[in-house]
Amino acid sequence: MRRIVLLGPPGAGKGTQAKRLATDLGIVHLSTGDLLRAAAARGTSLGREADGYMRQGLLVPDALVLRILRERLAAPDAQRGFVLDGYPRNVAQAHSLAEITPIDHVVYFEIPESALVERLSQRRSCPTCGAVYNLVTQPPRTPGRCDRDGTTLVQRSDDEEGAVRTRLAVYRQATLPLLDLYRTQGRLRTVSAGGTVEEVDARVRASLR
Ligand SMILES: [Zn+2]
Repeated sequence: MRRIVLLGPPGAGKGTQAKRLATDLGIVHLSTGDLLRAAAARGTSLGREADGYMRQGLLVPDALVLRILRERLAAPDAQRGFVLDGYPRNVAQAHSLAEITPIDHVVYFEIPESALVERLSQRRSCPTCGAVYNLVTQPPRTPGRCDRDGTTLVQRSDDEEGAVRTRLAVYRQATLPLLDLYRTQGRLRTVSAGGTVEEVDARVRASLR
């Protein structure tokens, strides 16, 4: 059983590493965004409730995210473990998460702010399925179009520079106490998120040994 949480600012490459790690370890990759969209698509009662918030552009309340996460963790394919990416984002969520599952390792992706602003300015996303691309490190097969559904990719307004700096400030404020919490518990591993996908992958792997 490997129960792993990846933490790091937006643009640190957590999603890419989470997918690789999950495939290699034979465990499931859980990102809250995908989780909520999948529940909405399945049309479960929790999914429909989440969909109501997302359609209005509202944040899905923590309590509902946790109920959907709990339901997902009970599925047979999650019994070998999981990589959770994008959750928790603050100490309150970490405490709620601890009530539904133990966590074995927390990997924190550390990266200088200047590098993040640069990376995020290259980010494009699909308004239909939520897939995220990077014009430099992870370009779509057809320029400007989503690999999954062909939708024209957009730069989200929150990926523009001023918005990125604000997001990072908000992120730091919520996350630093979270890092302290996991450090105190002896679960925190910090890796540098600079360099290529392969280099970061090797560091993550080494940190889990
Ligand atoms: Zn798409």
